[in-house]
Amino acid sequence: MNVHFLGTAGYHPGERRQTSCVFLPEAGVMFDAGTGIFRATPLIAKESLHIFLSHAHLDHVFGLTCLLDIVPKTILKKVYVYAEQAKIDAIRNGMLHPLLFPAELPVEWVSLESLGDSLTLNDAVVRWFPLTHPGGSVGYRMDWEDLSLAYVTDTTADDTSPYWNEVREVDWLIHECNFCDSEIEFARMTGHSWTSAVLKGAKKARVQRLVMTHLQPLSENADPVDLAGSLAKHRDLGPDQIILADDLLCIEL
Ligand SMILES: [Zn+2]
Ligand SMILES: [Zn+2]
Repeated sequence: MNVHFLGTAGYHPGERRQTSCVFLPEAGVMFDAGTGIFRATPLIAKESLHIFLSHAHLDHVFGLTCLLDIVPKTILKKVYVYAEQAKIDAIRNGMLHPLLFPAELPVEWVSLESLGDSLTLNDAVVRWFPLTHPGGSVGYRMDWEDLSLAYVTDTTADDTSPYWNEVREVDWLIHECNFCDSEIEFARMTGHSWTSAVLKGAKKARVQRLVMTHLQPLSENADPVDLAGSLAKHRDLGPDQIILADDLLCIEL
């Protein structure tokens, strides 16, 4: 099972990074639909695509508009978009208002509330849980028989937040890290995470491997959140394996 990081920026695209989009082609599952989604076309391997949205901020949903272009060029027959009902309403009445976008998207909207708190997709169970972010967002966890992965963005990463229980001992945690430790005040104000808080929470939740994404878009640096500096200060802070995501990174799970 491969996971492709099609977009790893928060907020807006930069020279190095498109906005958030994480794709598992073999599972037919995508987390968020930021501008990086345009890179999905050659990777589409199934007739159904299940897109799970964390929330409706534009850096996570703008790429839905690209589906009008992607669907006819691929074998896709059905695209499901999952989100909280209020977020679906905001996307459809706001971003997809006829004055902002000219056509209906070829998707089926599915409210998470209509499903309860989990969904079985082929051989995996997908669960969702609330995060701390202005307007609210949700994190997701996928469990296969012998593999687990969680996707957590956007959120303030206090290590006491209840969501850490939902990702406990997960094999792979993909977690946002928009800010470095010198920007904690701004991170809190905007409902985002900073490096040492993510490391600390992941360690405490006994996460096996951590991938940090939703990074600062204006930085051209491979380490925009000073991961090296945070690890130097607190040696045993994070899990043993920590990866800073970059656009087009592909990891075999
Ligand atoms: Zn975001
Ligand atoms: Zn957001």
